[in-house]
Amino acid sequence: MLNPYVTRINIMLQLFFPPGAGCSVCGSSTLRLVVEYGMIGPDMPNLPDLKGLLPEEIAAALAPLGAPAFRAKQLFAWLHRRGVTRVDEMTDLPADLRQTLSTHFHLTAHSMLERATAADGTTRYLFGLADGQTIESVYIPEATRATLCVSSQVGCPFGCTFCATGQSGFTRNLTAAEIVDQVYRVQAELPEGRRITNVVYMGMGEPLANYDAVIRSVRLLIHPLGLDLAQRRITLSTVGIVPGIERLAQEGLQVNLAISLHAPTQADRVKLVPIARKYDLDSLMAATRRYVQTTGRKVTFEYTVVPGSNDREADAEALAALVRRLQSLVNVIPLNPAEGQPAGMRLHPQELRARAEQFAEMLRRRRVEVAVRASRGGEVTGACGQLRQRHRPKKLFSTSLSGLV
Ligand code: SAH
Ligand code: SF4
Repeated sequence: MLNPYVTRINIMLQLFFPPGAGCSVCGSSTLRLVVEYGMIGPDMPNLPDLKGLLPEEIAAALAPLGAPAFRAKQLFAWLHRRGVTRVDEMTDLPADLRQTLSTHFHLTAHSMLERATAADGTTRYLFGLADGQTIESVYIPEATRATLCVSSQVGCPFGCTFCATGQSGFTRNLTAAEIVDQVYRVQAELPEGRRITNVVYMGMGEPLANYDAVIRSVRLLIHPLGLDLAQRRITLSTVGIVPGIERLAQEGLQVNLAISLHAPTQADRVKLVPIARKYDLDSLMAATRRYVQTTGRKVTFEYTVVPGSNDREADAEALAALVRRLQSLVNVIPLNPAEGQPAGMRLHPQELRARAEQFAEMLRRRRVEVAVRASRGGEVTGACGQLRQRHRPKKLFSTSLSGLV
């Protein structure tokens, strides 16, 4: 069901600071002003969201309403195992409790606005949120598993030069309920017997910049009364938020961590990943080493090959030296063409894949453990962020200033 959309003006001044001072969030000295006239939905209801609570928290929230604690487990299972979207679907709860719940709590449930499926079954979803914002998720079925790529923020504040999400700016963090509901909405429409087995936080946004909601969403997804996903089937991908990596190491979780490296030297990395000015390569590598020591878990380095920028023999040599002594895998990613990328990055997808394969070969010759990300979904996948850009609510006018140094 679609949200009842309303029309209003949305003015957003995103970053503004004096020349040379740099942004305290991403280290960039970029000014970005966005003025939109758009179709956006009603504000989110100001009630606690039941879908973001763990069973013991539901029990605590129910106590003042006179509901017994065992109802919390029932409720949690309805929300996180069966994926219901309305309290009145919880048929084993007494009618008066259902009535009380619907007046005291909100239940996040995304509207599915668009769905695009490629020949190989890869499906890109555009979801509408309660406040009219949109996010996307990508479902990737394979023979032995089915992965959902979820978003953690509406947009992203970090502006990596090749990333469509980063180029479209940042609006807000998602709540834990808004993160897990992407999984439940997609699961609800899969054929009988087909289950989402893996979740990767590689959609829109930076998971470690929305740390609390992301960790809460992981705890919801792995809960035995809910979907009960295996921790090792969950991957958090980060652009390199050092304090987030430090915190994650202490979390006691067994999820996978992927670090978006993209360049083996500080000088080249800042050109692709502006936040590297704040969290430089040395501190990122030091935090990664501590993470591996503390958790005993192998990390993955993501390396998007941007021809001419990070795929020279010297880059392969420097990257091999950087990762050699770490328990790690380098995931080489062919660049996906995306709106907003600099002209120099615009090559044919086949050429981009060939350049990624060549770079992977350079690494293999240096005995680095490498995987090249398979091309899935053809026209529908691309880089996360593109679908939202093409289908944003209709605008009367839009102003966007960015990249002013
Ligand atoms: N913010 C997190 C997770 C979301 S991006 C991060 O940066 O890790 C997930 C992955 O997609 C990252 O490795 C990112 O660098 C990569 N990516 C983004 N845009 C891309 C593009 N146009 N082509 C190839 N990979 C891209
Ligand atoms: Fe944000 Fe990740 Fe895109 Fe960089 S690559 S802009 S951190 S979503």
